[in-house]
Amino acid sequence: MRSRLALHCRDANPLIEALAGPVETAAIGRGRLTRSVDDHTVVVTDITFVADEGYLERSATHLTLRPEGWSPVCRQISLAGDVPVLLHTHPNGSAAFSARDDTFDRTVGAELRRTAGSDVVVSVVVAGTPAAPRFVARLVTADQFRGVDVIRIVGDRVDIHLPDDAAPLRDDVHDRAIRALGKRGKRTLGSLRVGFAGAGGTGSPAIEQVARLGVGEELVIDNDVVTASTVSRGYGTTLNDLGRPKVDVVAEHIARMGLDTTVVALNQDIRTESSRLALAQCDVVFGCTDSHASRIVLSRLAYLHLVPVIDLGVVVANTAGRLNGWGRVTWAAPGAACLLCGGHIDPQIAATESLDPTERRRLAAEGYVPDLDEPAPSVIAYTTMVAAEGVAEFLDRFLDLHSHDGASETLLQLSAHKKRRSKPHPRTGCICNEPIQWGTGRAEVDLDLLWAS
Ligand SMILES: [Zn+2]
Ligand SMILES: [Zn+2]
Repeated sequence: MRSRLALHCRDANPLIEALAGPVETAAIGRGRLTRSVDDHTVVVTDITFVADEGYLERSATHLTLRPEGWSPVCRQISLAGDVPVLLHTHPNGSAAFSARDDTFDRTVGAELRRTAGSDVVVSVVVAGTPAAPRFVARLVTADQFRGVDVIRIVGDRVDIHLPDDAAPLRDDVHDRAIRALGKRGKRTLGSLRVGFAGAGGTGSPAIEQVARLGVGEELVIDNDVVTASTVSRGYGTTLNDLGRPKVDVVAEHIARMGLDTTVVALNQDIRTESSRLALAQCDVVFGCTDSHASRIVLSRLAYLHLVPVIDLGVVVANTAGRLNGWGRVTWAAPGAACLLCGGHIDPQIAATESLDPTERRRLAAEGYVPDLDEPAPSVIAYTTMVAAEGVAEFLDRFLDLHSHDGASETLLQLSAHKKRRSKPHPRTGCICNEPIQWGTGRAEVDLDLLWAS
């Protein structure tokens, strides 16, 4: 079992600032637990600081709370799957749970579980200084503490916090990358689970690059099979693979590298509930499909589950012997515009994709809906170029390699050999412009919120 905790920076930053204070500080948050097979992710939102009168004792090295300190917040936590999250600081202290914390989590944890009707409570320690904060977390049940493997703080950048015993690096393989990205950066990469919606033209090179970077786990979702035309762009595919699921071929290809990357391959539609639950266990997801309906799923994931999405798009066309086209890399996460506001989801095409295939072909033949079966022009050089640009965006966001320019989209103008950065604006009423929705971990959101224009 692997477990993850995700917070938006608006909730994490006040805790980090509290590290400047002379005494420990406590807060209660609302968590939403999503499970998939053996994996657990808790998304934390709505953090409320304990009021002064809620403390029984409060010093530089410990605190205890009166029931009045946590019960008002706890009562607001709904019984519908929410879990209480208990957070406290160790100013200038260590990122570890003390013996006092064990006692505190056992006793207060039991009360919180009872009040909230949950079988688990999450306990988080924020330690160190405002300039160098460290987060550590655990799940507290009636009979055990279980450490959280990866803590993700999502903003314009993504900060990853790992326990001290995270897996060591393979210096022999990654020596050259460690020289560029640093040991901490490589350790971060090794802890991540990266999802890919699509294993085709842009997906397969992105999957290959991310594996060679030493990322610990990859989740690949695609329901296509390898055709002869796949081999002209699909990394790892051969003409011997015709008719096989793309995800199986890609997973075997990554396994052959012999690195430590584990691949989970799901040969299914991204719109299924099990796909959503699996994607919610990722730290970031690459959108590598032409499907507009898939982009709706990814847009929801980015904001509701705090799983940032790096969406890739390539369009090329040959006009009178001249190749025209562009590649696009879009960062969709709280603080940036979603794929709908960026103009990358066509609601009519998304609706057409959701039709039964026979019905869709009939309506397309009659001109009522767009014909989606006509293959689009595609060339490996451009699909790989966009995949590499997307992987570079991933490194930048997770390892903080360059100063941030505020943009969330890169446009590669192929004919002009130019690159342009831009910042699409969230539209009023859209989920990407509704902070109250971020990190709620909800399965669905009111359609009018997503479709608002
Ligand atoms: Zn403590
Ligand atoms: Zn939006």
